[in-house]
Amino acid sequence: MRLFWHRRDLRVADNRGLAAAADATGNDGAVVPVFVFDDDVLAHGAPPRVRFMLDALAALRDDYRERGSDLVVARGDPAEVLPELADEFGAEAVVWNEDYSGLARERDARVRVALDAAGVARETHHDAVHHEPGTITTNQGDPYAVFTYFWKKWRDREKADPFDVPAGDDLVDADAADLVNVDAVAGDALPSITDLGFVEPDADVQAAGTDAARDRLAAFCEDAVYRYGEDRDYPAREATSRLSTDLKWGTIGVREVYAATEEANAEAAAMADDTVDDDGEGPVASVEEFQSQLAWREFYTQVLWANPEVVTQNYKDYERPIEWRNDDTAMEHLAAWKEGRTGYPIVDAGMRQLTEEAYMHNRVRMIVASFLTKDLLLDWRHGYEHFKRHLADHDTANDNGGWQWAASTGTDAQPYFRIFNPMTQGERYDPDAEYVAEYVPELASVSPDNVHSWHELSVGRRRQLAPEYPDPIVDHSEMRERALSMFKRARGEE
Ligand code: FAD
Repeated sequence: MRLFWHRRDLRVADNRGLAAAADATGNDGAVVPVFVFDDDVLAHGAPPRVRFMLDALAALRDDYRERGSDLVVARGDPAEVLPELADEFGAEAVVWNEDYSGLARERDARVRVALDAAGVARETHHDAVHHEPGTITTNQGDPYAVFTYFWKKWRDREKADPFDVPAGDDLVDADAADLVNVDAVAGDALPSITDLGFVEPDADVQAAGTDAARDRLAAFCEDAVYRYGEDRDYPAREATSRLSTDLKWGTIGVREVYAATEEANAEAAAMADDTVDDDGEGPVASVEEFQSQLAWREFYTQVLWANPEVVTQNYKDYERPIEWRNDDTAMEHLAAWKEGRTGYPIVDAGMRQLTEEAYMHNRVRMIVASFLTKDLLLDWRHGYEHFKRHLADHDTANDNGGWQWAASTGTDAQPYFRIFNPMTQGERYDPDAEYVAEYVPELASVSPDNVHSWHELSVGRRRQLAPEYPDPIVDHSEMRERALSMFKRARGEE
């Protein structure tokens, strides 16, 4: 008998650790799947993520029940709960999949010590990524800090295939949950969101669970994957997979996602050449571009693994500290940014999408992050914390990577002198202002031209067009100059 400890892998299919646990026990043993609500982890939670996690756990429990098994849930410190559960079930080992963030690794080290002390074996597997941190390195054996080189190696390396659910008999017998009697809350009942100390999110959070993730993947591979290269930057075109929350919680495995895109690739290759447009963009290129986003995820995973301190510190050192603004006006600007009332339509649309859907389109994440750091001159950590509170897909590695990229403090970051112009970005990527109209109803009947030149209109004209929508809180050109000086000072050039 083995315990399998679920963490960020809330699925039974294509789950390496779970399959290994089931294989190892053979026919005469069983696997008891366990999830532990850990208050130290919950301290980093937020309503949309806890909602998604609870829904994903309910779906996982149903998947186990359909197989005549059940999910055991407990609450407490895993270093105490797991040895107790192992004792209760007479399990000889606890098996889990690696989590690569600094906090998770510290916790896992404590769990290992506790299991060793209790005489319980433990075994870990790599599951969340195709190529685990430390396996794609420079020729000197260092982790990559530049994506392009990482990507080339990642792309060319062989990928493992997904595999199916372990056979039902190898999972636990249905009555196992009744056996649980540890001090911590344990059993097969899931707590409510309020039991865990959270309120229901205001945002509409996506449906959770492997079935929902598979539906999203199938829908994406039917159509959008073929126009991804051309359309992915246009938020109104809905050309991306929306799988980030599934990949964060592991309701679907990365092998399954990749295999589906390889299938799409094979179909695309079989299509006529004339599906390639003038820019050389075509279905095959689109699929590869999508796969490169999966590689970005693994790139940032290895950045965080090699540099756990980047969660709170700049990856890139400047000569002097960056003098981010932090006076009262800056804090008022921060509040306006969070609430989507900066008077820059594309920025406000993004920030409102975040609060409404616990999600934001990637291009718009880049725009709002650039706006916070380069137009408002506010420390990226404010933005990271806000995203962490609101995103269902918040993932320490990707969120941090995205923020430090925008702030010009990260690995392979945007150079400090490349500053997005929020109006031009809006004009280019939301030309018909459809995305703006969806999230900023005050501007829904304003023409795209006026939306994109909002900052240039007279105050009178703005009042006439959209009396409820704010004037720009800062002047982009002026702030751009200030941002350049701020970075030059940090570089010791001014
Ligand atoms: P798709 O375009 O369909 O991409 C497929 C998958 O690839 C995504 O689900 C995601 O797992 C991965 N991916 C895509 N783009 C990136 C990227 N730039 N970096 C790393 N992985 C990527 N992504 C998160 O998963 N969690 C975060 O907390 C997060 N925070 C971000 C913060 C900022 C400031 C920025 C600029 C980007 C952030 N991203 C984050 C990356 C990206 O915006 C989202 O992964 C993407 O928008 C999710 O939508 P999708 O699933 O439809 O993406």
